[in-house]
Amino acid sequence: MIDAHILIVDDDPGVRIPMEEFIKQSGFAASSATSAEEALALLRSNGMNVVITDISLPGMDGLEFTDLIKKDYDVDVIVITGYSADYSYEEAVDKGASDFLFKPVRFKELLLRLKRVLRERRLTQERVRMLGELTNLAITDGLTKLFNSRHFYNQLELETDRSFRYHHPLSLLLFDIDNFKKYNDTYGHLEGDKVLLRIGQTIKSCLRTMDTAYRYGGEEFTVILPETGGEEAVTVGERIRSTVEADKFIPNSEIVTITVSVGVTQHDYKEEISTFVKRADQAMYLSKQNGRNKVSFLPGDSEPEAP
Ligand code: GH3
Ligand code: MG
Ligand code: MG
Repeated sequence: MIDAHILIVDDDPGVRIPMEEFIKQSGFAASSATSAEEALALLRSNGMNVVITDISLPGMDGLEFTDLIKKDYDVDVIVITGYSADYSYEEAVDKGASDFLFKPVRFKELLLRLKRVLRERRLTQERVRMLGELTNLAITDGLTKLFNSRHFYNQLELETDRSFRYHHPLSLLLFDIDNFKKYNDTYGHLEGDKVLLRIGQTIKSCLRTMDTAYRYGGEEFTVILPETGGEEAVTVGERIRSTVEADKFIPNSEIVTITVSVGVTQHDYKEEISTFVKRADQAMYLSKQNGRNKVSFLPGDSEPEAP
């Protein structure tokens, strides 16, 4: 059985019944309907892949029917038209039909066209899937599976726009692992990578659904917190800092504690992204200066205007 379900729509039983029989014998699942209305009810309840419809139907005609199908369903339509009919196949293709056939239908030709439509359908689906995969790859950091810095800047652009438009607060966290060079030098780069991976997971586990985490650089991470003021952001930063500190790493059978220095800041009304990020970085450096394993907050110059 070929994995496709075909729906045949024709009010003439002399066409509909043998066609359904032929489609089934050709190895497909097939159903049939005598009108567009009946066919739409079947489409709603069953996963059909291709509809083969006569263009002249009682009630709603085949063109209007094709239009409705293409608006609501991921289904291909093959339209059957008479040579002398009032309708043209160009109109059917305009409405989104994938192919057309003239009456009287020769079943061999129908099968060829149906197979071609199904083949193109599979190729399209494969293309969409691959495009989705590529898009994901382009915004994901390979090691931690967090978003990468390219996506960080794109999202920050969107979020600062939104914050500006709706006068909602927006905050940013920036993390840098403490003394990480020493960890790499002592236990090796691979052990260092495990730390990056685990800290990425820890950060993610401490966030709400609308927050997003990024690997910003080598051993630096950022988190965008929409709808969040500075004070609340400090709480999130502190939660991540203490969770990382509580986690134990065991390279070479030694128990090692890793810590992060955190910088927190809230977006200033209208300020540039670069200024915003720079301030988060300066806040992180304050944490380093104050002995590492700290969370520091730097306020912006102005509060967002009331709406
Ligand atoms: P500080 O507390 O001041 O941040 O000290 P640090 O040693 O963490 O800072 P420094 O900038 O001197 O070193 C960062 C280190 O991060 C250097 C590099 O070996 C390590 N690093 C960066 N990217 C990766 C990576 O992808 N994998 C691993 N294992 N290490 C990385
Ligand atoms: Mg660093
Ligand atoms: Mg560091």
